[in-house]
Amino acid sequence: MQDCCGRTIDYLRLSVTDLCSYRCRYCMEPEGVEKRAHGDILSLEELAEMAEAAVRCGVKKIRLTGGEPLVRRGIVDLCRTLRSIPGLEELCLTTNGQRLPQLAGPLRQAGVDRLNISLDTLRPDRFAAMTRLGRLEEVLAGIRAAEAAGFSGLKLDTVLIGGFNDDEVGDFLALTMVYPWEVRFIELMPMGPCAAWDKSCFLSVDSILQRYPTLQEIDPQGVARRYRLPGARGTVGLISPLSHDFCAQCRRIRITSDGHLKGCLHSGEELPLRGLHGAALEAAIRRGIAQKPPRHHLAERPSDAGRTMNRIGG
Ligand code: SAM
Ligand code: SF4
Repeated sequence: MQDCCGRTIDYLRLSVTDLCSYRCRYCMEPEGVEKRAHGDILSLEELAEMAEAAVRCGVKKIRLTGGEPLVRRGIVDLCRTLRSIPGLEELCLTTNGQRLPQLAGPLRQAGVDRLNISLDTLRPDRFAAMTRLGRLEEVLAGIRAAEAAGFSGLKLDTVLIGGFNDDEVGDFLALTMVYPWEVRFIELMPMGPCAAWDKSCFLSVDSILQRYPTLQEIDPQGVARRYRLPGARGTVGLISPLSHDFCAQCRRIRITSDGHLKGCLHSGEELPLRGLHGAALEAAIRRGIAQKPPRHHLAERPSDAGRTMNRIGG
């Protein structure tokens, strides 16, 4: 279905939890999130009901996210249920990769089509410092497990952070010479803990094009501009919510793990969906799509999201 600006909305990011096994410094506070009562978070049945209603409203692709989606109990069953929704063309999941050694196979069997794995650094000491609780080796094992389970076209999502990993861009690009992966650099967005960080942390991904002029442009995909190094097996994606406002091409809506529809990641506007069923639920989703904000205002001020990324579903 189309929103008020004529954009076709066919992509839902569905958050299944706001809890996480890591505490990435730009995303979460060190103490993590206050554990909520079980009933405050959508049940698996509610998640499936909302996904089905969204598909009836024109959604063709769902990405499960969080928090960390793989810490949600019953995630594999949920994937199986969602994959059987008639009209859903693609089921994807974004993960920090930590639990993939156990779950990659079951997720593939449950019908998950694609995985994005977040990886901000290839240096063990930096990884431990940034995630506070993680070890690089467990994510690398997760990537290997995803490949072994038959996930092709893996995407590695790297948030580019000035003074933290901007000296590793070459190492990430080198991965694409060896592996058929897409390494995607994402601009750090000023929200949650990192909203207070120094301006020097917020780099334009265009700086990568300036430093690596041999990157050849190929077809874009969604909001990612895409490139390839000569002779590379993999590709490079640049996602620039700050330096290139891609709102005009945005096809997404989001549902938070406590059941609020957000038309825009950076808007405080939320539409409560809990307790709605059938035609009423569908009508609310259609209303949320119709009212999707035209654009964000990150160029002028920090995000108006009113929640940290883990509580929205990044
Ligand atoms: N836990 C999963 C993961 O890390 O992949 C899924 C949820 S996480 C919120 C989704 C993505 O959002 C991750 O790639 C993370 O790096 C990114 N992210 C979190 N905060 C961000 C921010 N302020 N700016 C840009 N990306 C951010
Ligand atoms: Fe967890 Fe993902 Fe946020 Fe890191 S970015 S703390 S892995 S939700």
